[in-house]
Amino acid sequence: MTLRFEACGLTHTGLLRHNNEDSFLLDEAHELFMVADGMGGHAAGEIASKMAVEQIRDFIANASDQQRPSWPYPTPREYPIFWQRMMAAVMSANAAIYRNSRESQHLSGMGTTVVALSLDGDSVVFAHVGDSRLYLFRDGKLSLQTEDHSWIQEQINQGNLTEEEAARHPLRNVITRALGGASAVSVDVGSIKPLPEDLFLLCTDGLTTMVPDQEIEEILLKHHDLNQAADQLIQTANQMGGHDNTTVVVIRIRE
Ligand code: CA
Repeated sequence: MTLRFEACGLTHTGLLRHNNEDSFLLDEAHELFMVADGMGGHAAGEIASKMAVEQIRDFIANASDQQRPSWPYPTPREYPIFWQRMMAAVMSANAAIYRNSRESQHLSGMGTTVVALSLDGDSVVFAHVGDSRLYLFRDGKLSLQTEDHSWIQEQINQGNLTEEEAARHPLRNVITRALGGASAVSVDVGSIKPLPEDLFLLCTDGLTTMVPDQEIEEILLKHHDLNQAADQLIQTANQMGGHDNTTVVVIRIRE
């Protein structure tokens, strides 16, 4: 079975930053969608996030079913083939960013988050590193599908902070995993059996540090049109301060 879908993506620099270091990708031909949030001075963040989405796209586009799914990257053999392929694609992006940051002084120290979603037959497969997120909006309810690789999430998991304290914490932007920081990276992967009318939201922390989940849910309830929903999410992030670049990709599964 092949799923039918519609998708829309938008990005905004926000109100305080001069550059937009986020990147996103809608590749309907390969049924591949991504959001990445770069970091690093002198435009290096922009380069890192762009390199991530392009490298992952190229890896998926060039993968062949004859080949081992993840060659030459180490992925768990017990995982489904498409999971391994998504993990390897993210690992290949990590390797490319790491190599470039070592070879060029003005790119030194660059890194990026990424969250990628693709369709594999009748399931949705996703992979992520960092604090860019995937949400599922089903039957009017929003649910987070990824766990941030962030210092604050570790504190929540260890019971040191509540979700409420975390939302206002000054260190909420510190991430513990990114692409480009080391020669290898650990990638989280998962899948969901989608239902018709499910909506998937990929976003950078520019949205989630400004707009509470409940407000995101209300916006998605109110705006069925994907362009309007994406636009309203970005506008709301800016109305609430627009402290960061904000990027959203929304994908709806059709009947
Ligand atoms: Ca950000």
